[in-house]
Amino acid sequence: MLRLLPALALLLLQTPAHAQQADQVATGEITGADHETYKQIPFDVPEGTERITVRLTYDKANKTVVDLGVFDPQRFRGWSGGTRDRFTLSASDASPGYLPGALPAGRWHVQFGVPNARKDAHSPYRVEIFLDRGTVRNASAAIADAPINAAPGWFRGDLHMHDAHSDGSCKSKTGKKIPCPLFRTVDAAANAGLDFVAVTDHNTVSHFGGLRELQPYFDNILLIPGTEVTTFGGHANAIGLTRWVDFRIGTPGVPNVAAVEKAVAEAGAILSINHPGLPSGEACMGCGWVWPDTDWNGITAIEAINANTVNTPLSGIGFWYKQLNAGHRLTGVGGSDNHNPDAEAGRAGIGRPTTVVHAEALSTPAILAGIRAGRVFVDVEGTRTRVLDVEAVSGRTRALMGETLAPGAKLDVTATIAGVDAGKAVLIANGTEAQSLPLAPAVTFHLDRKAACGWIAVNVTTQDGKLLLVGNPIYVRCGR
Ligand SMILES: [Zn+2]
Ligand SMILES: [Zn+2]
Repeated sequence: MLRLLPALALLLLQTPAHAQQADQVATGEITGADHETYKQIPFDVPEGTERITVRLTYDKANKTVVDLGVFDPQRFRGWSGGTRDRFTLSASDASPGYLPGALPAGRWHVQFGVPNARKDAHSPYRVEIFLDRGTVRNASAAIADAPINAAPGWFRGDLHMHDAHSDGSCKSKTGKKIPCPLFRTVDAAANAGLDFVAVTDHNTVSHFGGLRELQPYFDNILLIPGTEVTTFGGHANAIGLTRWVDFRIGTPGVPNVAAVEKAVAEAGAILSINHPGLPSGEACMGCGWVWPDTDWNGITAIEAINANTVNTPLSGIGFWYKQLNAGHRLTGVGGSDNHNPDAEAGRAGIGRPTTVVHAEALSTPAILAGIRAGRVFVDVEGTRTRVLDVEAVSGRTRALMGETLAPGAKLDVTATIAGVDAGKAVLIANGTEAQSLPLAPAVTFHLDRKAACGWIAVNVTTQDGKLLLVGNPIYVRCGR
């Protein structure tokens, strides 16, 4: 009985947190002999390992305490004492207390310290090692946060911003212009009332560890790791990235854009072309998107609205519509491209514009899936209240934004609009304004099939045509 009780306690500890399959497991017992000693638990890291997550459970009855750390085959890689029961390390990021960097293959050791074990202690422990390697993502799953909101809904976010890890700046305590700490940028996003942000520093992943550290504090806003892949022929945000992606197009490892697209997809991210309406060449080096060999199947989204470019000739909407007219399926999104969290309202402050995504939950996988699915609109002024949802109906078939409708002779397109006081709803068919109607909570356009073939969308504008809400397309399939 004396031996059974701790075992039962351990069993209780193990559910349900241990649903994830471990790659390696070590079990044992802390006894009185371990009191004030260090103990090493070996584990093996195979070649090609990208992430390691370690989880410890042990019987804490009778004041047994186990401190936790880790050594790679050559050196110290981190220590969390008694404060954590799990940690993760990869080349780009690690749990606070741990050191990111290369994960050499070979024999690693989980390092225990035992500050206390009573003479008669028999405390079972279990160390689980989870690895990301190839397409297996056990380590990422074992350290994944629960969704910030598990219910489906509209979530408002900013997909584009910079901080000290690239060219973001703000004022220091004494008023000097300094590289702006990541905390300030994230804090400004939280204060702006956003549900999610993607922090997208140029070509680097050095902010990923910071985001991992900040997320538990910012438990009301989802922090999505991203990189602005910044090339000589254009910029594109890799959103939801798990590792660095080589941006050096034209070097042997990265012959073309397709290679970047493949690497981004393999790293679990989506690619969104940024500010395609900006000029290229000496006017704005690498700003517009000019790569000739873009495989549009590898692109998920277009930043139709970058900062304050909407309603100007620099808007990306024309570029986006052109790709839609060419038959590509691309979700239109917005990004503030914020480089200073103290920017005044109206000057590309964080959350202006806001991308509003209908997602199954507020988590990185769900937001990425929502952007892919395309039930998304852009709130140009970054309000927290405006909503635009669009549904097309023909007979018994119906489709929401991002979906496909194969209509009969006629179809109705209904936009549900909230939060806009005055203006009009504009129906776009294949990139041009087809109809407009006065604003109402629900506005319905009636169309002939011929006018709708290709794609349709609804935007909300002011009375004089300035965009307020930009809807995403419903694809209309006609013929075979
Ligand atoms: Zn850019
Ligand atoms: Zn940028």
